[in-house]
Amino acid sequence: MSSIRPWRTVMRRQCRQIMVGSVPVGGDAPITVQTMTNTPTADARATIDQIRRCEDAGADIIRVSCPDEASTAAMREITRAARIPVVADIHFHYKRALEAADAGAACLRINPGNIGSSDRVAEVVRAAKANGCAIRIGVNAGSLEKDLLEKYGEPCPEALVESALDHIKLLQDHDFHQYKVAVKASDVFLAVAAYQALSEAVDCPLHLGITEAGGLIGGTVKSAIGIGSLLWAGIGDTIRVSLSAEPEEEVRVGFEILKALGLRTRGVRIVSCPSCARQGFDVIRTVEALEKRLSHIKTPLSLSVLGCVVNGPGEARETDIGLTGGGNGKHMVYLSGVTDHTIESEAMLDHIVRLVEAKAAELEAGAAADGDPVPA
Ligand code: SF4
Repeated sequence: MSSIRPWRTVMRRQCRQIMVGSVPVGGDAPITVQTMTNTPTADARATIDQIRRCEDAGADIIRVSCPDEASTAAMREITRAARIPVVADIHFHYKRALEAADAGAACLRINPGNIGSSDRVAEVVRAAKANGCAIRIGVNAGSLEKDLLEKYGEPCPEALVESALDHIKLLQDHDFHQYKVAVKASDVFLAVAAYQALSEAVDCPLHLGITEAGGLIGGTVKSAIGIGSLLWAGIGDTIRVSLSAEPEEEVRVGFEILKALGLRTRGVRIVSCPSCARQGFDVIRTVEALEKRLSHIKTPLSLSVLGCVVNGPGEARETDIGLTGGGNGKHMVYLSGVTDHTIESEAMLDHIVRLVEAKAAELEAGAAADGDPVPA
């Protein structure tokens, strides 16, 4: 229902586009949401099951740790089963990168400066080129190179950027350009300043993250501030929210950040009030139930759920479906912003679920008739 206005528009930084498997990253491609599995990678079944849950939550790209040979041995089965590109996370052991590339990884997360000789870098680049893999350089404030720590005295934006540029140079020296870069820190100020400086120094896509952000609530807030402020400034092409929570939660939070900035639309966007003594029904329990029962819907649409007429009609005007609490257990339902009918408390939840599902089906049918993909 809402229209585009200049003050609501993010002007994205221009950068090259690379492909991570079938998913474009950078350029004018939608900003992608990534997460990382936490099952033992060698347990292919458990890892595939977790990837499925992340796919259902909307993940565009999934990262899988490859700490040992047993993990890369499982990668072939994992990459075949995954419906989204798989990034192999490699630290130090360049042979794991060669094995992962051969096993179908779409991208290697590896810092070329950490794997030893130039011959090894050349081997990794050769394997990436031969298998159509991208590379993600991941600089982290917690594992900065010793010489940079000595030079700068502490992790700082300049040190993170210099580290990234050093790794980039190694790839460029081997004529490899399908890379994206991250400069993560758990400190929001440090991460944001580093990404700002990096965005001016390179033309490749940037992978955003506030690393080790914390638990579900604290980490969500930190990520929303750090990743959100960068995205708002137009910086960032793919994001990973780092939470001590299940990977599906990271995906959900990632999408919420993008949805809040109008950068992606996916599923039902619920506008709801915090509730107060004026509420005509239990807003908190209703929204909790609706979030669960509508989580399968991928088509973007909006639903407002407000406890009373103070703000209900105004929000309902801006959403596809609106519900506003009334007196005597009867509540007003709005369709396309217009008052339509009332519904009683007992039947309200099932009724709203049915209305939203019908609206989603109608939008999907319209998109199919026009030959458009369902936007997400
Ligand atoms: S919309 Fe009504 S019930 Fe909800 S917080 Fe505002 S005044 Fe309270």
